[in-house]
Amino acid sequence: MTGILVVEDEQHLQEEIADWLELEGYQTHVACNGREGLKVALEAKPDLIISDISMPHMDGFNFLLEVRANPQLTSVPFIFVTASAEYESIRKGMVLGADDYLIKPFDQIDLLKAITTRLERRLAFDAMIARQISSLNEVLAQKDQQQKLQLNISAMLSHDLRSLMTVVLSSSDLLKRYRERMDDRQQMRHLDRIQGASYQIVHMLDDLLLSAEMETGVLAFEPEMLDVCALIGKLVMEFQIICDETHSIDYQCDVDGSAYIDRRLFRQIMTNLLSNSVKYSPDGGQISVRLEAEGDHIVLKIADKGIGISSDDLPHLFDPFFRADNAKKIGGTGLGLPIVKRAAELHGGTVQVISELGHGSCFMIYIPRAIPEQS
Ligand code: ADP
Repeated sequence: MTGILVVEDEQHLQEEIADWLELEGYQTHVACNGREGLKVALEAKPDLIISDISMPHMDGFNFLLEVRANPQLTSVPFIFVTASAEYESIRKGMVLGADDYLIKPFDQIDLLKAITTRLERRLAFDAMIARQISSLNEVLAQKDQQQKLQLNISAMLSHDLRSLMTVVLSSSDLLKRYRERMDDRQQMRHLDRIQGASYQIVHMLDDLLLSAEMETGVLAFEPEMLDVCALIGKLVMEFQIICDETHSIDYQCDVDGSAYIDRRLFRQIMTNLLSNSVKYSPDGGQISVRLEAEGDHIVLKIADKGIGISSDDLPHLFDPFFRADNAKKIGGTGLGLPIVKRAAELHGGTVQVISELGHGSCFMIYIPRAIPEQS
């Protein structure tokens, strides 16, 4: 309940004001001079104070000064009650920090109007402060996120990219020096390593670029009517060449016709999901890619029989930089799935995951065939 403190030495006026206020549903506290008023104010923490000016022991001006100097009361709206319309005493009260004044005699309507105006302004002020705090928090959270992105990018460049470059350099160095002593199979193995590492470097740089575009809000969505079956078939084939020695990919398409697809974003969805299926499942593993039609949507399903994801980790899977404990020994950045999710959303679609720890995972991308209304 809104509490109001009335400080007034004229007993009948104090009682009258308190009665008016109680009838209006306010909780009232009373005091008959500034000294007592300060004591009551500190105990009751009222939402508004009404005070007479001339009172014994501590007058209204000194009471106001005490209120404004006290951190617990400093912002409580304060209305002066003055016996005369003397300009000097009204001016002094306002200079000392009063919010409004009432000239005796005043009626119930004047009093209630002054109170509601002050309380409404106070509420509006509190709401404005709350808005400022929340936008400040947003800015801080954004800064935090940007700082995290920068740190992760530095870590990625200094560690992951460096290790991949080391693979490229050492295999090419070995080929250059000892090519004559190597048989075809050994030479091929080194060429495969160079190709695989180079592919991962390109993939990592693409993810970095897309994450930066997402972060700065400039990620473009440029859909065109494309034959999805053929597009995905081509991407699967490219991928199969890279991971030929370790995994086989089985692709089936049950979709006729075309859909609105952004070529670059769809490639990124496929690359991230397929490279995760390869990374997180043992050598010799089979990966299945299915394209199905479901109502007015196409559904891309990419499934593996790899390490799987625990039910505790599933809710965090699309948070930037999230990496599950069982994946930490395998290289990665935690940037791929947030990109997959954002890319699907730009198409007006969604991502779903079914996974069982130790048994495998299936990622499903639902994309409407028609162009989304808003990107
Ligand atoms: P990265 O693979 O670079 O770590 P992602 O954002 O692509 O980043 O994936 C986030 C996390 O989700 C991975 O670190 C891993 O813990 C988990 N994850 C993603 N795909 C799979 C999968 N197919 N099998 C098991 N875990 C996966």
